[in-house]
Amino acid sequence: MSDVPKTNLLGLTKARMEAFFVDLGTKAFHGRNVLKWIHKHGVVDFDLMTDLPKALRELLKDKAEIVTPRIVLDQPARDGTIKWLLELSDGQHIETVYIPDGDRSTICVSSQVGCALDCSFCSTAQQGFNRNLSVAEIIGQVWLASRMIGRPPTNVVMMGMGEPLANFDNVVPAMDLMQEDLAYMISKSRVTISTSGIVPALKRLRGVSDVSLAVSLHAPDNALRDQLVPINRKYPLEELIPACKQFIEHDRRRKVTWEYVMLDGVNDSIAHAKALIRLLQGVPSKVNLIPFNPFPGTLYRTSPPERVEAFRQRLMRAGIMSMTRKTRGDDIDAACGQLVGKVHDRSRRHLKRIPIVQEHRP
Ligand code: SAH
Repeated sequence: MSDVPKTNLLGLTKARMEAFFVDLGTKAFHGRNVLKWIHKHGVVDFDLMTDLPKALRELLKDKAEIVTPRIVLDQPARDGTIKWLLELSDGQHIETVYIPDGDRSTICVSSQVGCALDCSFCSTAQQGFNRNLSVAEIIGQVWLASRMIGRPPTNVVMMGMGEPLANFDNVVPAMDLMQEDLAYMISKSRVTISTSGIVPALKRLRGVSDVSLAVSLHAPDNALRDQLVPINRKYPLEELIPACKQFIEHDRRRKVTWEYVMLDGVNDSIAHAKALIRLLQGVPSKVNLIPFNPFPGTLYRTSPPERVEAFRQRLMRAGIMSMTRKTRGDDIDAACGQLVGKVHDRSRRHLKRIPIVQEHRP
Protein backbone atom coordinates (compact mmCIF):
# COMPACT_ATOMS: atom_id res chain seq x y z
CA MET A 1 0.00 0.00 0.00
CA SER A 2 1.28 3.46 -0.84
CA ASP A 3 0.89 6.45 1.50
CA VAL A 4 -0.51 8.67 -1.25
CA PRO A 5 -4.27 9.10 -0.81
CA LYS A 6 -6.29 7.14 -3.32
CA THR A 7 -7.91 9.03 -6.17
CA ASN A 8 -11.70 8.82 -6.27
CA LEU A 9 -12.32 7.92 -9.91
CA LEU A 10 -16.02 8.85 -9.68
CA GLY A 11 -15.13 12.54 -10.04
CA LEU A 12 -12.81 12.32 -13.06
CA THR A 13 -13.89 13.66 -16.45
CA LYS A 14 -12.83 11.73 -19.55
CA ALA A 15 -9.69 13.85 -20.02
CA ARG A 16 -8.70 13.53 -16.37
CA MET A 17 -9.40 9.80 -16.35
CA GLU A 18 -7.22 9.30 -19.44
CA ALA A 19 -4.43 11.33 -17.85
CA PHE A 20 -4.71 9.30 -14.65
CA PHE A 21 -4.20 6.04 -16.55
CA VAL A 22 -1.31 7.43 -18.57
CA ASP A 23 0.30 8.57 -15.31
CA LEU A 24 -0.13 5.04 -14.00
CA GLY A 25 2.04 3.90 -16.89
CA THR A 26 -0.76 2.32 -18.87
CA LYS A 27 -2.97 3.28 -21.79
CA ALA A 28 -5.60 6.03 -21.94
CA PHE A 29 -8.21 3.66 -23.39
CA HIS A 30 -8.33 1.73 -20.10
CA GLY A 31 -9.41 5.01 -18.56
CA ARG A 32 -12.25 5.33 -21.04
CA ASN A 33 -13.34 1.78 -20.24
CA VAL A 34 -13.34 2.51 -16.52
CA LEU A 35 -15.42 5.64 -17.16
CA LYS A 36 -18.02 3.45 -18.88
CA TRP A 37 -17.97 0.82 -16.13
CA ILE A 38 -18.60 3.42 -13.47
CA HIS A 39 -21.17 5.66 -15.10
CA LYS A 40 -22.87 3.50 -17.71
CA HIS A 41 -22.92 0.22 -15.78
CA GLY A 42 -22.74 1.47 -12.22
CA VAL A 43 -19.84 -0.84 -11.39
CA VAL A 44 -17.67 0.32 -8.50
CA ASP A 45 -15.67 -2.88 -7.89
CA PHE A 46 -12.47 -3.14 -9.94
CA ASP A 47 -12.70 -6.95 -9.96
CA LEU A 48 -15.91 -6.73 -11.97
CA MET A 49 -14.26 -4.63 -14.70
CA THR A 50 -13.50 -7.69 -16.75
CA ASP A 51 -11.86 -6.00 -19.73
CA LEU A 52 -9.01 -4.61 -17.59
CA PRO A 53 -5.86 -6.72 -17.28
CA LYS A 54 -5.63 -8.42 -13.88
CA ALA A 55 -2.40 -6.59 -12.99
CA LEU A 56 -4.02 -3.24 -13.75
CA ARG A 57 -6.97 -4.09 -11.53
CA GLU A 58 -4.54 -4.83 -8.67
CA LEU A 59 -2.72 -1.55 -9.30
CA LEU A 60 -6.02 0.32 -9.28
CA LYS A 61 -6.97 -1.15 -5.91
CA ASP A 62 -3.76 0.36 -4.57
CA LYS A 63 -4.00 3.79 -6.21
CA ALA A 64 -7.68 4.47 -6.71
CA GLU A 65 -11.13 4.04 -5.26
CA ILE A 66 -14.70 4.65 -6.32
CA VAL A 67 -16.59 6.28 -3.49
CA THR A 68 -20.23 7.22 -4.04
CA PRO A 69 -22.56 9.18 -1.74
CA ARG A 70 -24.80 6.97 0.37
CA ILE A 71 -28.58 7.18 0.42
CA VAL A 72 -29.74 7.26 4.02
CA LEU A 73 -33.38 8.10 3.39
CA ASP A 74 -35.61 7.50 0.42
CA GLN A 75 -38.72 9.69 0.58
CA PRO A 76 -41.36 9.09 -2.09
CA ALA A 77 -44.02 11.75 -2.59
CA ARG A 78 -47.58 11.06 -3.69
CA ASP A 79 -46.89 12.44 -7.20
CA GLY A 80 -43.98 10.06 -7.92
CA THR A 81 -41.27 12.55 -6.98
CA ILE A 82 -38.61 11.01 -4.76
CA LYS A 83 -36.28 12.90 -2.47
CA TRP A 84 -33.09 11.22 -1.37
CA LEU A 85 -31.17 12.28 1.68
CA LEU A 86 -27.53 11.52 1.00
CA GLU A 87 -24.73 11.16 3.47
CA LEU A 88 -21.29 12.24 2.33
CA SER A 89 -18.05 10.68 3.55
CA ASP A 90 -17.56 13.38 6.22
CA GLY A 91 -21.05 12.81 7.62
CA GLN A 92 -22.65 15.90 6.01
CA HIS A 93 -26.04 15.58 4.38
CA ILE A 94 -27.47 16.86 1.11
CA GLU A 95 -30.67 16.26 -0.81
CA THR A 96 -31.30 15.16 -4.39
CA VAL A 97 -34.73 15.06 -6.00
CA TYR A 98 -36.01 12.80 -8.78
CA ILE A 99 -38.97 14.21 -10.73
CA PRO A 100 -40.62 11.83 -13.22
CA ASP A 101 -42.92 13.39 -15.82
CA GLY A 102 -44.08 11.01 -18.56
CA ASP A 103 -41.09 10.19 -20.77
CA ARG A 104 -39.00 12.80 -19.02
CA SER A 105 -37.12 12.27 -15.80
CA THR A 106 -35.34 15.14 -14.15
CA ILE A 107 -32.79 15.00 -11.37
CA CYS A 108 -32.45 18.11 -9.25
CA VAL A 109 -28.83 18.15 -8.12
CA SER A 110 -27.22 19.97 -5.17
CA SER A 111 -23.90 21.78 -5.54
CA GLN A 112 -23.11 22.80 -1.95
CA VAL A 113 -23.90 21.76 1.60
CA GLY A 114 -26.16 24.68 2.53
CA CYS A 115 -25.87 28.03 0.76
CA ALA A 116 -24.19 31.33 1.55
CA LEU A 117 -26.49 33.61 -0.42
CA ASP A 118 -29.28 34.22 2.05
CA CYS A 119 -32.25 34.69 -0.30
CA SER A 120 -35.06 35.65 2.03
CA PHE A 121 -37.65 33.19 0.66
CA CYS A 122 -35.44 30.07 0.50
CA SER A 123 -35.20 27.52 3.28
CA THR A 124 -31.76 26.28 2.19
CA ALA A 125 -30.48 29.76 3.08
CA GLN A 126 -31.69 29.33 6.66
CA GLN A 127 -29.19 26.58 7.37
CA GLY A 128 -26.21 28.69 6.32
CA PHE A 129 -23.25 27.54 4.30
CA ASN A 130 -21.13 24.57 5.12
CA ARG A 131 -18.93 23.61 2.19
CA ASN A 132 -18.69 23.03 -1.55
CA LEU A 133 -19.40 19.58 -2.96
CA SER A 134 -16.60 17.82 -4.85
CA VAL A 135 -17.00 16.75 -8.48
CA ALA A 136 -17.55 13.17 -7.23
CA GLU A 137 -20.26 14.30 -4.83
CA ILE A 138 -22.06 16.24 -7.55
CA ILE A 139 -21.89 13.60 -10.28
CA GLY A 140 -22.44 10.99 -7.55
CA GLN A 141 -26.02 12.25 -7.25
CA VAL A 142 -26.63 11.48 -10.94
CA TRP A 143 -24.82 8.15 -10.53
CA LEU A 144 -27.06 7.17 -7.61
CA ALA A 145 -30.25 8.36 -9.26
CA SER A 146 -29.42 6.40 -12.42
CA ARG A 147 -28.96 3.25 -10.34
CA MET A 148 -32.18 3.85 -8.41
CA ILE A 149 -34.33 4.45 -11.49
CA GLY A 150 -32.52 1.93 -13.66
CA ARG A 151 -31.47 4.36 -16.42
CA PRO A 152 -29.90 7.79 -16.73
CA PRO A 153 -32.23 10.75 -16.26
CA THR A 154 -33.24 12.64 -19.43
CA ASN A 155 -32.63 16.03 -17.75
CA VAL A 156 -30.52 17.45 -14.96
CA VAL A 157 -31.19 20.76 -13.26
CA MET A 158 -28.56 22.27 -10.98
CA MET A 159 -31.36 23.54 -8.75
CA GLY A 160 -30.80 21.69 -5.52
CA MET A 161 -29.04 23.05 -2.46
CA GLY A 162 -26.39 25.68 -3.03
CA GLU A 163 -25.33 28.23 -5.61
CA PRO A 164 -23.67 26.28 -8.44
CA LEU A 165 -21.66 29.21 -9.77
CA ALA A 166 -20.11 29.66 -6.33
CA ASN A 167 -18.64 26.17 -6.79
CA PHE A 168 -17.55 26.72 -10.37
CA ASP A 169 -14.47 24.49 -10.44
CA ASN A 170 -16.38 21.40 -9.37
CA VAL A 171 -19.73 22.08 -11.03
CA VAL A 172 -18.25 22.52 -14.54
CA PRO A 173 -16.48 19.11 -14.69
CA ALA A 174 -19.56 17.45 -13.18
CA MET A 175 -21.74 18.99 -15.92
CA ASP A 176 -19.19 17.75 -18.51
CA LEU A 177 -19.64 14.22 -17.17
CA MET A 178 -23.43 14.53 -17.42
CA GLN A 179 -23.01 15.24 -21.15
CA GLU A 180 -20.18 12.77 -21.77
CA ASP A 181 -21.00 10.03 -24.29
CA LEU A 182 -19.18 7.43 -22.19
CA ALA A 183 -21.18 8.45 -19.13
CA TYR A 184 -24.75 9.83 -19.10
CA MET A 185 -25.05 11.27 -22.65
CA ILE A 186 -27.45 14.03 -21.64
CA SER A 187 -27.61 16.71 -24.33
CA LYS A 188 -26.35 20.18 -23.44
CA SER A 189 -29.81 21.70 -23.70
CA ARG A 190 -31.07 19.23 -21.08
CA VAL A 191 -28.49 20.18 -18.48
CA THR A 192 -29.55 23.42 -16.81
CA ILE A 193 -27.52 25.52 -14.43
CA SER A 194 -29.60 27.77 -12.20
CA THR A 195 -27.94 30.77 -10.64
CA SER A 196 -28.89 33.68 -8.46
CA GLY A 197 -26.62 35.77 -10.65
CA ILE A 198 -22.92 35.71 -9.83
CA VAL A 199 -21.97 37.78 -12.84
CA PRO A 200 -18.18 37.21 -13.04
CA ALA A 201 -18.68 33.43 -12.79
CA LEU A 202 -21.37 33.56 -15.46
CA LYS A 203 -18.96 35.39 -17.77
CA ARG A 204 -16.34 32.74 -17.03
CA LEU A 205 -18.81 29.97 -17.82
CA ARG A 206 -19.35 31.33 -21.31
CA GLY A 207 -17.26 29.33 -23.72
CA VAL A 208 -16.46 26.73 -21.05
CA SER A 209 -19.81 25.03 -20.62
CA ASP A 210 -22.61 25.40 -23.14
CA VAL A 211 -25.51 24.37 -20.94
CA SER A 212 -28.98 25.86 -20.55
CA LEU A 213 -29.19 28.89 -18.30
CA ALA A 214 -31.83 29.59 -15.67
CA VAL A 215 -31.56 32.70 -13.54
CA SER A 216 -33.33 33.37 -10.26
CA LEU A 217 -34.68 36.82 -11.01
CA HIS A 218 -37.72 37.13 -8.70
CA ALA A 219 -38.00 40.92 -9.03
CA PRO A 220 -38.10 43.40 -11.92
CA ASP A 221 -36.12 46.18 -10.22
CA ASN A 222 -33.02 46.54 -8.06
CA ALA A 223 -34.79 47.89 -4.99
CA LEU A 224 -36.97 44.79 -4.63
CA ARG A 225 -34.35 42.33 -5.83
CA ASP A 226 -31.87 43.69 -3.26
CA GLN A 227 -34.35 42.55 -0.61
CA LEU A 228 -35.18 39.15 -2.05
CA VAL A 229 -31.85 38.08 -3.58
CA PRO A 230 -29.16 40.00 -1.64
CA ILE A 231 -26.38 39.10 -4.12
CA ASN A 232 -28.12 41.71 -6.32
CA ARG A 233 -26.46 44.43 -4.21
CA LYS A 234 -23.13 43.20 -5.56
CA TYR A 235 -24.24 42.35 -9.12
CA PRO A 236 -27.26 44.52 -9.95
CA LEU A 237 -29.65 43.99 -12.85
CA GLU A 238 -27.80 46.32 -15.22
CA GLU A 239 -24.82 43.91 -15.01
CA LEU A 240 -26.78 40.67 -14.73
CA ILE A 241 -29.14 41.05 -17.68
CA PRO A 242 -26.45 41.80 -20.33
CA ALA A 243 -24.27 38.94 -19.00
CA CYS A 244 -27.19 36.52 -19.39
CA LYS A 245 -27.95 37.81 -22.86
CA GLN A 246 -24.33 37.31 -23.85
CA PHE A 247 -24.33 33.78 -22.49
CA ILE A 248 -26.90 32.64 -25.03
CA GLU A 249 -26.16 34.91 -27.99
CA HIS A 250 -24.02 32.38 -29.89
CA ASP A 251 -27.16 30.32 -30.56
CA ARG A 252 -30.31 31.98 -31.86
CA ARG A 253 -32.49 29.12 -30.63
CA ARG A 254 -31.48 29.72 -27.03
CA LYS A 255 -33.47 31.56 -24.40
CA VAL A 256 -32.69 32.52 -20.84
CA THR A 257 -35.12 30.95 -18.39
CA TRP A 258 -35.98 33.47 -15.69
CA GLU A 259 -37.23 31.99 -12.45
CA TYR A 260 -39.73 34.17 -10.65
CA VAL A 261 -41.12 33.04 -7.31
CA MET A 262 -44.63 34.39 -6.79
CA LEU A 263 -44.86 35.99 -3.34
CA ASP A 264 -48.26 37.25 -2.28
CA GLY A 265 -48.35 41.06 -2.24
CA VAL A 266 -44.59 41.34 -2.75
CA ASN A 267 -43.73 40.91 -6.43
CA ASP A 268 -46.89 39.57 -8.06
CA SER A 269 -48.88 42.60 -9.26
CA ILE A 270 -49.62 43.60 -12.85
CA ALA A 271 -47.31 46.58 -12.33
CA HIS A 272 -44.51 44.11 -11.55
CA ALA A 273 -45.38 42.14 -14.69
CA LYS A 274 -45.17 45.30 -16.79
CA ALA A 275 -41.82 46.24 -15.25
CA LEU A 276 -40.59 42.72 -15.99
CA ILE A 277 -41.65 43.02 -19.62
CA ARG A 278 -39.66 46.26 -19.92
CA LEU A 279 -36.64 44.72 -18.21
CA LEU A 280 -36.54 41.73 -20.55
CA GLN A 281 -37.02 43.68 -23.74
CA GLY A 282 -34.56 42.45 -26.34
CA VAL A 283 -33.52 39.39 -24.34
CA PRO A 284 -34.68 36.00 -25.70
CA SER A 285 -36.58 34.90 -22.63
CA LYS A 286 -38.83 32.35 -21.04
CA VAL A 287 -40.28 33.08 -17.61
CA ASN A 288 -40.98 30.29 -15.15
CA LEU A 289 -43.34 31.42 -12.43
CA ILE A 290 -42.80 29.40 -9.27
CA PRO A 291 -45.60 29.41 -6.71
CA PHE A 292 -43.84 30.09 -3.41
CA ASN A 293 -43.31 26.92 -1.37
CA PRO A 294 -43.69 27.81 2.29
CA PHE A 295 -41.49 26.44 5.04
CA PRO A 296 -41.65 26.75 8.84
CA GLY A 297 -40.90 30.25 10.07
CA THR A 298 -41.35 32.08 6.75
CA LEU A 299 -43.35 35.29 6.62
CA TYR A 300 -44.08 35.01 2.90
CA ARG A 301 -47.30 33.63 1.49
CA THR A 302 -48.01 31.96 -1.84
CA SER A 303 -49.75 34.18 -4.40
CA PRO A 304 -53.31 33.09 -5.18
CA PRO A 305 -53.46 31.01 -8.40
CA GLU A 306 -55.62 33.66 -10.16
CA ARG A 307 -52.94 36.28 -9.59
CA VAL A 308 -50.22 33.95 -10.88
CA GLU A 309 -52.31 33.28 -13.98
CA ALA A 310 -53.04 36.98 -14.57
CA PHE A 311 -49.30 37.72 -14.29
CA ARG A 312 -48.53 34.92 -16.74
CA GLN A 313 -51.16 36.10 -19.21
CA ARG A 314 -49.75 39.62 -19.10
CA LEU A 315 -46.28 38.31 -20.02
CA MET A 316 -47.69 36.09 -22.76
CA ARG A 317 -49.57 39.03 -24.28
CA ALA A 318 -46.27 40.88 -24.49
CA GLY A 319 -44.81 37.92 -26.39
CA ILE A 320 -42.83 36.47 -23.49
CA MET A 321 -43.22 32.74 -23.17
CA SER A 322 -44.22 31.99 -19.63
CA MET A 323 -45.30 28.97 -17.65
CA THR A 324 -46.16 28.24 -14.09
CA ARG A 325 -43.90 25.61 -12.62
CA LYS A 326 -45.86 22.68 -11.32
CA THR A 327 -45.16 22.20 -7.65
CA ARG A 328 -43.74 18.73 -7.25
CA GLY A 329 -43.08 16.71 -4.13
CA ASP A 330 -44.27 19.38 -1.72
CA ASP A 331 -45.72 16.78 0.68
CA ILE A 332 -42.14 15.65 1.37
CA ASP A 333 -40.57 19.14 1.28
CA ALA A 334 -38.90 18.36 -2.03
CA ALA A 335 -40.15 21.42 -3.91
CA CYS A 336 -38.05 24.44 -4.92
CA GLY A 337 -36.50 26.15 -1.95
CA GLN A 338 -37.43 23.41 0.51
CA LEU A 339 -34.20 21.39 0.46
CA VAL A 340 -32.25 21.47 3.68
CA GLY A 341 -30.23 18.28 3.93
CA LYS A 342 -31.25 17.31 7.38
CA VAL A 343 -33.65 14.75 8.74
CA HIS A 344 -36.82 16.31 10.11
CA ASP A 345 -38.37 14.35 12.95
CA ARG A 346 -41.74 15.19 11.49
CA SER A 347 -41.06 13.56 8.15
CA ARG A 348 -38.97 10.71 9.50
CA ARG A 349 -41.91 8.84 10.98
CA HIS A 350 -43.48 7.78 7.70
CA LEU A 351 -40.28 7.19 5.80
CA LYS A 352 -38.95 3.80 4.95
CA ARG A 353 -35.28 3.06 5.23
CA ILE A 354 -33.71 1.50 2.21
CA PRO A 355 -30.60 -0.63 2.01
CA ILE A 356 -27.41 1.20 1.15
CA VAL A 357 -26.39 0.80 -2.47
CA GLN A 358 -23.10 -1.09 -2.44
CA GLU A 359 -22.40 -2.63 -5.75
CA HIS A 360 -24.03 -2.94 -9.13
CA ARG A 361 -23.46 -5.43 -11.85
CA PRO A 362 -23.94 -4.49 -15.50
N1 SAH B 1 -28.96 28.88 -5.97
C1 SAH B 1 -29.43 28.59 -7.30
C2 SAH B 1 -30.03 27.22 -7.37
C3 SAH B 1 -31.36 27.05 -6.63
S1 SAH B 1 -32.55 26.70 -7.81
C4 SAH B 1 -30.38 29.69 -7.74
O1 SAH B 1 -30.64 30.57 -6.95
O2 SAH B 1 -30.80 29.71 -8.89
C5 SAH B 1 -34.00 26.71 -6.96
C6 SAH B 1 -34.99 27.76 -7.44
O3 SAH B 1 -36.06 27.78 -6.50
C7 SAH B 1 -34.40 29.14 -7.47
O4 SAH B 1 -34.96 29.91 -8.49
C8 SAH B 1 -34.85 29.67 -6.13
O5 SAH B 1 -34.82 31.07 -6.09
C9 SAH B 1 -36.23 29.09 -6.03
N2 SAH B 1 -36.74 29.04 -4.66
C10 SAH B 1 -36.04 29.14 -3.52
N3 SAH B 1 -36.86 29.07 -2.46
C11 SAH B 1 -38.11 28.92 -2.93
C12 SAH B 1 -39.37 28.74 -2.32
N4 SAH B 1 -39.50 28.70 -1.01
N5 SAH B 1 -40.44 28.59 -3.13
C13 SAH B 1 -40.29 28.57 -4.47
N6 SAH B 1 -39.12 28.72 -5.10
C14 SAH B 1 -38.03 28.89 -4.35
